[in-house]
Amino acid sequence: MGDGNANLWAPWRMEYIRTLAEEHKDDGCFLCRYWQQPDRDRESRVITRSESCYVVMNRFPYSNGHLLIACGRHCGRFDELTDDEHRQMTSLTRKMILALEETVHAQGFNVGTNLGRCAGAGLPDHLHTHIVPRWSGDTNYMSVVGDVRVINDSLDALYEQLRGQVGD
Ligand SMILES: [Zn+2]
Repeated sequence: MGDGNANLWAPWRMEYIRTLAEEHKDDGCFLCRYWQQPDRDRESRVITRSESCYVVMNRFPYSNGHLLIACGRHCGRFDELTDDEHRQMTSLTRKMILALEETVHAQGFNVGTNLGRCAGAGLPDHLHTHIVPRWSGDTNYMSVVGDVRVINDSLDALYEQLRGQVGD
């Protein structure tokens, strides 16, 4: 880690807080919005869709290739999912793990869901599972890259790769 590490985080966090504030201002739930605007998938960085679920890149990733698997419907609990929706989320998770092994050569993954605000859910009312790729000896991608523009460029590049990998 280089010495400016603490400073590199600052612009990213500020952008994060600003964007969160923007998103919560008038647009309601962004996971619902993405699902309802399939014509804007590239802009939203939605990678692929199944009948009732979809995959989107996390705009504030913990590592390169951090994805969200979301139900299209606005519900926040596993017991509110239909069996079919649950199957589709699992199936998309499996598919994206393979795609991340192919594209960014991930060596491991953290896969999980934060249920409830006290468990760290940023959007507790709309169920989504995180897939965070890991590498042996990895350092935190965000603190290495640090710059908002660089991060967005690399997210765009990876988006195209992943779309190509799981393309319909
Ligand atoms: Zn929603």
